[in-house]
Amino acid sequence: MPFLPTTREEMLARGWQKPDFILVSGDAYVDHPSFGHALIARVLEADGFKVAILAQPRVADLGDFYRLGEPKLGFLVAAGNIDSMVNHYTSMKRPRSSDVYSPGGKAGLRPDRATIVYCNKIHEAFGGRYPIVIGGIEASLRRFAHYDYWSNKVRHSVLSDAGADLLLYGMAERQMRQAARRLSDGLPLEGIAGSCVLADEMPEGALEIPSFMAVRDSKAEYARAFKTQYEEQDPIRGRTLCQRHEKKVLVAYPPAMPLSRQELDEVYALPFERRAHPSYAVMGGVPALKEVEWSITATRGCFGGCNFCALGFHQGRIVQSRSEESLLGEAAALVKQKGFKGYIHDLGGPTANFRYPACKKQLELGSCKHRQCLVPEPCPNLIVQEHEFASILRKMRGIAGIKKVFVRSGLRFDYMMLDKDETFWRELVEHHISGQLKVAPEHVSPGVLRRMGKPGCAVYEAFRQKYEAMNERLGKEQFLVPYFISAHPGSTLKDAIELALYLKRIGHQPEQVQDFYPTPGTLSTAMWHTGKNPLTGEPVYIPGGEEEKLMQRALLQFQNPLNHALVRRALRKAGRADLIGYGPRCLVPPEKGGPPKLREGKRAQPKQRRARQGR
Ligand code: SF4
Repeated sequence: MPFLPTTREEMLARGWQKPDFILVSGDAYVDHPSFGHALIARVLEADGFKVAILAQPRVADLGDFYRLGEPKLGFLVAAGNIDSMVNHYTSMKRPRSSDVYSPGGKAGLRPDRATIVYCNKIHEAFGGRYPIVIGGIEASLRRFAHYDYWSNKVRHSVLSDAGADLLLYGMAERQMRQAARRLSDGLPLEGIAGSCVLADEMPEGALEIPSFMAVRDSKAEYARAFKTQYEEQDPIRGRTLCQRHEKKVLVAYPPAMPLSRQELDEVYALPFERRAHPSYAVMGGVPALKEVEWSITATRGCFGGCNFCALGFHQGRIVQSRSEESLLGEAAALVKQKGFKGYIHDLGGPTANFRYPACKKQLELGSCKHRQCLVPEPCPNLIVQEHEFASILRKMRGIAGIKKVFVRSGLRFDYMMLDKDETFWRELVEHHISGQLKVAPEHVSPGVLRRMGKPGCAVYEAFRQKYEAMNERLGKEQFLVPYFISAHPGSTLKDAIELALYLKRIGHQPEQVQDFYPTPGTLSTAMWHTGKNPLTGEPVYIPGGEEEKLMQRALLQFQNPLNHALVRRALRKAGRADLIGYGPRCLVPPEKGGPPKLREGKRAQPKQRRARQGR
């Protein structure tokens, strides 16, 4: 199936005078189901709508916005597969040098806060004549008034800042179809599950959360608003929420029902080209495609409940999965595709080993409001089922032309430990790991793990031992690569030292360490902003300032000589100078010539005196 038109000439070649929708995307146009703009465009096309793509328009002038003429029904706007600020800046707020969602990996082809900028340009070009629908992860996670790390302030709902007519959150195929139909029939856009509108009044029966003005001015109110948003994020029992802004009321309808297995199969069976638009070939293509080109998405949603992850707030806690036939069909089609070398790089999703809702009641009554499925202890109602996934993997690797099928998406190791049936374990270790298995214990300190919503370290330890034993039993030499986050809310220098000592004990030196990044929409970001856990009200320690963040990160990579000076400073600051030296428990050697000396004639300040005394 050809790419959707990106120029007037391509539209005319299809016999279109006007498209129904112009889809403006901050990502380059890649017609692959891992790209949100492709999913939405193909779903609309399947419903008979004409969609033209305007990818990464220049915003210095309006030229690109006139390129496709005017749409019949409206504009659809998304910043791209990830939030534009996350895309552009590191967790230390430094500009990134590349953008894998742009041709050739070139940075700077989309503006900061792309959703708002593109909407403003559309207003400027067309004077508000056409409805604008915003969606994608940036709009989804910024749908309420939210803390914005980059400006260090609370911002309005992006719907208000963008001046758009409708915001779709979540994966949005269902609500996009409804909205398109209503726009086509000239009907109002209010009341669509999985969407937000700005209204003059609160609708009857809606639940009001603290206003934008209240959450801007008070962290306690921010925490209160966040708690309700978090608890009502459920398509079955969630309520319509309202948040007053200065002139309008943001109305957030409950999430849309997740797609059924058949609906999900239908979406993935749409005629994607699975390639980047040919116009990018001269620039070397779009790097992000390489990550997913030979991968298959099997599931959506996650009941893992990690507090630093916004997936639950975007895709929801109810896991949806594609059927075996659909997955095997896609694998067989990949075999025939040009360039396929016999390797499926990943069969997965947000959490690869979740294929079904967490328990029987989740689809009838919704997810529990006040407890998580896996932590702090696994819920007694949790259904552990991995044999279907194992069976699909087995059948897929049996398809002629496929040499290997890897599982590179995250696996919940605590869920694997609950599985009484060892089939999945065995199949995974024997056939589906490409030399190393990456898992995410994220920390070892009980206090930090609790704030992260992760299981205790003992579970990871048991997993590690079982993994090693299984490899030995199967005659394999495969590594386990644990991921850790530094400076998460709740993590003190002492916690970081505890993690460093653990890493020393297991003999692991992380190549990369992820600093905690307060991205929109997560419970951890709300903790970071308010200094408390919004769900419990308990105070949470927030690692302060760049130096402490750097120290926590350096502690995780204490073996790197470049980090030694910082690690020594951190150890002294935390009163653990006993870990500086050559002893078996020590993390770093002492400085040559002993601790730094003060210049003659200068009196030591109290802090420095304490440091020199090793306190
Ligand atoms: S009953 Fe247990 S498994 Fe089911 S949604 Fe609630 S916490 Fe999750």
